[in-house]
Amino acid sequence: MKAASCALVLIVASSCGVIGDLRPGPTIAPLISAAFLSVHLFIGDNGDAQEKARLPQLRDAIAGALPNAWATATVGRGHLSVRTDGDIDVELDGTSGTSALMQHQRGGRVTSRMIAVHTIDGSRRLTVPELMATVLHELGHIWCCFGPGTKDGHWEEAPTGFSSVGIMNSPMTCTATPGSDPICPSVFSDRELAEMKLSGP
Ligand SMILES: [Zn+2]
Repeated sequence: MKAASCALVLIVASSCGVIGDLRPGPTIAPLISAAFLSVHLFIGDNGDAQEKARLPQLRDAIAGALPNAWATATVGRGHLSVRTDGDIDVELDGTSGTSALMQHQRGGRVTSRMIAVHTIDGSRRLTVPELMATVLHELGHIWCCFGPGTKDGHWEEAPTGFSSVGIMNSPMTCTATPGSDPICPSVFSDRELAEMKLSGP
């Protein structure tokens, strides 16, 4: 470890993947708006006893912080509400796995969307900041990222080291100081905001 920075870099490898038949690009614009998004966040039945005990707290923490996190991530251009009849379902799954946005299309239209967020990565139980970044990342996949410079929904050239700006990289890099919570990317980059139709005036 570098003594100068005293930080370790965490790679959130679980926060990646788009399942479905969406790639390489949407045939029509997604009907969900990043400017006014509603999310149904709920917990699943999976997980060991320890994780099942943790899931309600995780859900409450993420649900409470997500509206502000979305506003921050979109530099104030996006509004998000958490409610039971949201535009998109986000399930917290208490097992290890690859978190993903799953989309299905019929006749060029997206007929269903769901995000599964796994709360364990290998044997590591993910923290709220890591899970928050994962939720933002997977929500970003509704619109991002397509076209030149992207591969499987992510930017081909990922930054080396930690940056708080830029959420649609794979893997996502968080940074952590021993004894405190990790700090993860929290703001969509300009090109990400452009793909989300949230560019400035
Ligand atoms: Zn991804």
